[in-house]
Formats: sequence, C-alpha cells, structure tokens
Amino acid sequence: MATSSPVVAASAAKAATPAEAAAKLGATYPHEQMATRPLDLNPAHWYAAIKWHYDGGTLNWPMIIYIGLCHYWAVLGLTRLATVHTYTLLWAYVLWPITGLGITAGVHRLWSHRSYTAGPALRCLLMLMNSIANQGSIFHWARDHRVHHKHSESTADPHNAQRGFFYAHVGWLLCKKHPDVVKEGKKLDFNDLKRDGFVMFQRKLDPWFTMFMCFVFPGLVAKFGWGERFWDAVWVAGFLRYIFVLHSTWLVNSAAHIFGDHPYNEQWPAENPIVSFFAVGEGWHNWHHQYPYDYAASEFGITSQFNPTKLFIDFFCVIGMASNPKRATSSWERTKMKRDKGVFEKSNFVLCMEGYAARGADAAEAYPAKKQD
Ligand code: ZN
Ligand code: ZN
Repeated sequence: MATSSPVVAASAAKAATPAEAAAKLGATYPHEQMATRPLDLNPAHWYAAIKWHYDGGTLNWPMIIYIGLCHYWAVLGLTRLATVHTYTLLWAYVLWPITGLGITAGVHRLWSHRSYTAGPALRCLLMLMNSIANQGSIFHWARDHRVHHKHSESTADPHNAQRGFFYAHVGWLLCKKHPDVVKEGKKLDFNDLKRDGFVMFQRKLDPWFTMFMCFVFPGLVAKFGWGERFWDAVWVAGFLRYIFVLHSTWLVNSAAHIFGDHPYNEQWPAENPIVSFFAVGEGWHNWHHQYPYDYAASEFGITSQFNPTKLFIDFFCVIGMASNPKRATSSWERTKMKRDKGVFEKSNFVLCMEGYAARGADAAEAYPAKKQD
C-alpha cells in the first residue's frame, strides 16, 4: 500500500507554485501520477493505475463497456464518411453546435449556475438539445457540476484535475466515485432542479429518452428526410458526432483545467482558446471558476473571445424568451483594485492544499475501497 506522510502534504501546502506542489504531492497518488498532470504516456504508469483500480474493485465496468462500444461505433461512422449523402454530413455537422449548446447554454449556464432565466419554451428547447447530446440527465450533470465548482481540485471534485489529464478527461467516468464526491454532493441543495418539469421529465425517462434522441432520432431524420441508409446515419450523425462533442466537453475538464493563462486566479483552471472553439465558448475557464454566475463565462465580448453560447443567450434575451443575464465584470474591477493594493484571496487550489496538510491525506484515505495488501 502506498502512503505519504503528513510532512509531505504539509510541505506541498507550502509549495510556491502548483507544479511544485503537484510534484511534492505526487507520492499520494502513485497510480495516477500527479507529478505528470499533462497526458502521461508511460505504459508502466497506465498499467499501475489500471491494476490499482482493478485490485481495489473501483472500476466502473458498465461505463467502460458503454464508452468503449460508443467509440467503436464512432469508428464505424468514420469509415462511412466518404459514402454517406452530403446532407447526412451536414446534419452531423449542425448537430455539433445544437448539442453543444444543449450542454453549454442549457445544463451548464442555465441549470447548473442559474446565470440567466429562461422561459418554458426555451427550457423545453434546451432540454431537447441537451437530450441529443446525451451526457447523462440534466439533473445528474448539474449535480456533479455544482460539486465540481464547490470542491474543485480536491478529492470531492468528481473530475479532480490533480489526478492528471486522463482522469479529468474521461478516467473519472471509468472508475467509481470517490466517497468525498458522494458525501459533499448530498450536502448541496437541488430543489430548484426538482421544481423544473422539463428537468424531471428527462430524469424520469433517463437513460432511454436521451439514448433515443442521441442515436435513433438523427438516423430517422436522415432516413425519412433524404433517404439515407438508417444505420449509416446512426454511425455518422449519431455515434461519430456524439463522441466528438463528448471529447469537446471533456476537454473543458482536462485541458482547460491544466493548460492556459491564469489572469483572474493564479491557480488552476485556465483560459484556453482551443477548448473554447471545440466547446462552443466554454474554454475561458479561469474566469468561469472565479465567477460561475456570469452568463458569458468569459470577461470580454464575442468579438475578442470566441463564445457562440453567449451569442445564443443574447439572442433569446432580445426576442424575450430569456432574461436576467448576470455579469461579473464589475466584481472583477473591484478585485483588480484590491490586488493593486496587495490584497489576495485564497484560491480553491490553495485551500485544498491546506486541507490535505491538515488531514495528512494519503492514498488510503483517498480510496478507502482499495483492498489492503
Ligand atoms: Zn472546471
Ligand atoms: Zn461551471
């Protein structure tokens, strides 16, 4: 069993930079190599990580099989790209922003953060767009995301980026939740979601409604719309498009938590324009974690920061289907003035490092489910 002493954790808490802290804390997560947070390609580390979870019984087998099969069917979609109808390609392409906005404008900025208010017609539309994206129900996505914000970069973060790129990207779905995630999730209030009929409708039919909307519905549209072969449309506009949008969303948790600038908060996460492109405006993540209630999830307007999601919400505000978009630019102005005077607020990262030090955290505490040697 790998352990680390409180001395190690305490020294990490005093580390000057995130890289130094991660290097010192590496010993507490030997299986996920915290010291190499960018994607670790060493096969020995992968073997150690997989064996660690296998021995501990913490692998989530249904999810491993589901995500594996979806990738296989997406590869089948790749092989059909040259033979399907042009309209099928266009259909798969437009489903990228449609489903992306169902995540960003829908479950993220509306349901998770309440950064603006949407009327019933827009909520219904966003619920349908979100269902085609098929990233779990709105209720479960928003629940995990609120826990992520409250406890980012700690053991209670569902996709704790301190455990490396792969874990933050998809690994967190392939193994069982850390007990702290479940514990902290129970403390948060989700009554606003329970009061929303569209959220509850989708949750009640989960996962069958979202699976139908994500895979079967695009196939039916292509078959009856322009005579495409049903299964070819399912592989291309269903699975291939699904996997592409899924990875684009996951990049927010992995790449945008690891690579980029930190203008608003000196620690992770980061501002990442490449992630913003794939995730339709969601890569300005350093700002977003500092001001999660900001509906734009970025400081500047759409001309200087790529942000189709902001444009989408602005449009629905103009036509009266959404209202009350909140901004954080004046809060940021006040913080800048404080900083100029030398007053700094502790980030989540610093607070979590202090938490590790206080608890003398080690790998056994992190994963109590692991069998002891
Ligand atoms: Zn985040
Ligand atoms: Zn968020």
